[in-house]
Amino acid sequence: MEVRKIGVIGAGQMGHGIALVAAQAGFDVILNDIKDEFVQSGLAKIGKFLSKSVEKGKMEASQKEAIQGLIKGAVDLNELADSDLIIEAIVENLDIKKQLFSKLDAICKPGTVLASNTSTIPITDLASCTKRPEKFIGMHFMNPVPIMKLIEVIRGLRTSDETTEMIIELSRKMGKEPIEVNDSPGFVSNRVLLPMINEAIYCLYEGVGTPEAIDGVMRLGMNHPMGPLALADLIGLDVCLSIMNVLYEGFNDPKYRPCPLLKKMVHAGYLGRKSGRGFYDHSQG
Ligand code: NAD
Repeated sequence: MEVRKIGVIGAGQMGHGIALVAAQAGFDVILNDIKDEFVQSGLAKIGKFLSKSVEKGKMEASQKEAIQGLIKGAVDLNELADSDLIIEAIVENLDIKKQLFSKLDAICKPGTVLASNTSTIPITDLASCTKRPEKFIGMHFMNPVPIMKLIEVIRGLRTSDETTEMIIELSRKMGKEPIEVNDSPGFVSNRVLLPMINEAIYCLYEGVGTPEAIDGVMRLGMNHPMGPLALADLIGLDVCLSIMNVLYEGFNDPKYRPCPLLKKMVHAGYLGRKSGRGFYDHSQG
């Protein structure tokens, strides 16, 4: 099946990046969110990223305009109904995602493939609320989307070979490196990454080190480009907490229990970069 039009739902941190890389690959893109101000904010971030690329001499101003010309904003979900592929990047909540996917299943043409950018929610579970589980797949982009090469492609139990092959090919067209894995809580990426971040938060909680010391050990000692607490701030502490909760509930194993400090920070509204404060102060941008 040839993909021409891609609908992206959720114009936040991940969704605007996904819309950008899809348009850079030449696809027609519709970017949707629940409110027009969120759509406009996503479009503005895309514009800012492209302007910087022009300033740095990485692209011509005409290319920037051509890419922006491929992206349309829409608040009405019905405008996405004739998309060949829909990539969902909304809030990490099973019930809200399921509500959205059953709506999409009802309004989209029969051939539309539905993909979720969920960080941890089982793909088989999300697919179960649609009548097209063979056309349902996980497409897990990494943050920041325009920079990170990986797309973790997650097959649900009923995802077809045809859908998987189509998504692998499309990921490559977007300039990404797809890696196929099977459905399991946290998949591979977050099952390995998040327990490390959670353990770093425990180190802070128990006074083993300051954020700078903990991150410094991991950067200088393990050659990580970013320390785990700085990375948690980038991912969003609310997203980190939902991932830990999915691992904890998915495996029923106490080794995945979220650190109380992580819960406390989320309750306080300290969500990392997006709220201006997390383990570090981001109020100056
Ligand atoms: P975000 O909070 O930045 O953006 C979510 C957007 O979805 C918001 O603009 C919100 O208004 C919108 N939204 C919520 N409900 C909606 C609905 N029903 N219809 C349309 N739009 C709706 O979140 P994010 O960090 O971009 O995460 C989005 C998804 O990507 C989550 O599933 C998350 O787990 C996953 N993810 C996040 C990261 C990361 O590092 N932040 C990395 C990989 C995957």
